[in-house]
Amino acid sequence: PSPSAYNYQLLIKHILETPLIYSPEREIVYRDMVRYTYRDLNRRVHQLANTLASQGVEPGSTVAVMDWDSHRYLECFFAVPMMGAVLHTINVRLSPEQLIYTINHAEDDVILVNEEFLPLLESVKDKFTTVKKIILISDSGKTPDTSLTLEGEYEDMVNKAEKSYDFPDFDENTMATTFYTTGTTGLPKGVFFSHRQLVMHTYGMLANMAAFESQAPITSKDVYMPITPMFHVHAWGVPYVMTLLGAKQVYPGRYEPEMLLKLLVSEKVTFSHCVPTIMHMLVSSPAITNFDLTGWKVIIGGSALPRGLCREALKLGINIYAAYGMSETCPLLTSAVLKPKMMDWNEEEQVKYRCRTGRPAPNVYVRIWDPQGNALPHDGESTGEVVVRSPWLTQGYTKDAEKSEELWQGGWLHTGDIGYLDEEGYLQITDRLKDVIKTGGEWISSLTLEDIISQHEAVSESAAIGVADEKWGERPLVLVVVKDSHKDKVTEDELRDFFMKFVDAGEIPKYGVPNRVQIVDEIPKTSVGKINKKDIRTQFTS
Ligand code: ADP
Repeated sequence: PSPSAYNYQLLIKHILETPLIYSPEREIVYRDMVRYTYRDLNRRVHQLANTLASQGVEPGSTVAVMDWDSHRYLECFFAVPMMGAVLHTINVRLSPEQLIYTINHAEDDVILVNEEFLPLLESVKDKFTTVKKIILISDSGKTPDTSLTLEGEYEDMVNKAEKSYDFPDFDENTMATTFYTTGTTGLPKGVFFSHRQLVMHTYGMLANMAAFESQAPITSKDVYMPITPMFHVHAWGVPYVMTLLGAKQVYPGRYEPEMLLKLLVSEKVTFSHCVPTIMHMLVSSPAITNFDLTGWKVIIGGSALPRGLCREALKLGINIYAAYGMSETCPLLTSAVLKPKMMDWNEEEQVKYRCRTGRPAPNVYVRIWDPQGNALPHDGESTGEVVVRSPWLTQGYTKDAEKSEELWQGGWLHTGDIGYLDEEGYLQITDRLKDVIKTGGEWISSLTLEDIISQHEAVSESAAIGVADEKWGERPLVLVVVKDSHKDKVTEDELRDFFMKFVDAGEIPKYGVPNRVQIVDEIPKTSVGKINKKDIRTQFTS
């Protein structure tokens, strides 16, 4: 036989075929505005491809999207790569300078833009170097007043398009998607993924979530709603997984607490993923007690899950646990689903493991390296840089050979995170290399300090950084936002004293107790809702 017969290529189009066999009538929902079935999704993917082809999109073109989470975005997740084109998911929270940088750097040919972002796109249009066509995405149905030349409106164009498109077969290593890291330091960096990588990631994640005995299995009966944006690491690749499963999917548009809570209940959502800051916003919203969230499975990632937040979510019946990954890794690396034996452990021990960074997903290899590149033992103590291998890691940064080389030094992808592996096989990230607090030649984990203070009843949010110190190099400073109910009732000294208990319990050394805890109104966040340590360092160390 010819290799093309048995050498089956892993292409994104095959993900879309399974739900048509298993659950063609299951629904995909967009806010309280759109509701359709997998059959409709499939038809619209064909129509979208015809629409894009009519705008000159061909294999190798780049199609960019600026939208909140929607059924349209899901259609783009499939139609664009299935044509052999590249999907660029634009981070809509970038500054105009970063936005135009990424549009030109990715060499976008066509941009699909939600009416809400027209002013932002207008502000950079004179600097376009490759963009040829712009298509409007509109929820309102109004004709916007804009200086941009629009080719038409998405819904209108898709509805009018032919219902069948002949999606070609091609090499599975063809590039499928690209997006940019959030650029907390320097210019955003582009990463990119092939069909093969995305399909392998889909199967890896599916096996990780569904196949192993765990306290939070995901099945085709689950109802999925993302709460980390589709523009950031393809909403962690979960839309591909849930599509393969043929599960009901709910897309909430822009993340507004009222809409999220409403959809959670009305659509009976059972599974989501989000960053700690958004979970924090939800569990501290006064309306939360009116909702029954029992059994809602939520993966927390993007930053460490503090124990305080974990406990609050568990109290509401939310089945919460951490996972770990990054833009460069597609993203899944590890997840902290409990082992069956841990279900008999007491709650405190369980909380500890739910907040651990987790066990590697199938096909992910995690090692801890010392600075010389020697692998350290998995003893729960030896700490070093986390390096990884798996079939779905980015090959490098777009048009940046030097940084790509650094990323892959020694044949393993360098995460820039530090941590250890324990005897249960769980990874614990203790910090980012660039955030760890270096005091008197020792390292203090900023994440540990945040985890500790999250357990004080008055604390709503916190951030720990190192500030320059003549004698010690750096000393820890912890910023705290106090819960409304505790405003003016707790002092900075009391909060600082809270750390002493954890010295006595052996969780941190004495020199880990911060010199200062400072109560603040707000903690600066990045464009994807993470604590912005770079910003905090400039504000609080000068
Ligand atoms: P950015 O660097 O722009 O924030 P990413 O979204 O790629 O972009 O962030 C990945 C980083 O987030 C990881 O390298 C790690 O430092 C952090 N991270 C993600 N998940 C976890 C977790 N469960 N625990 C601790 N840190 C995490």
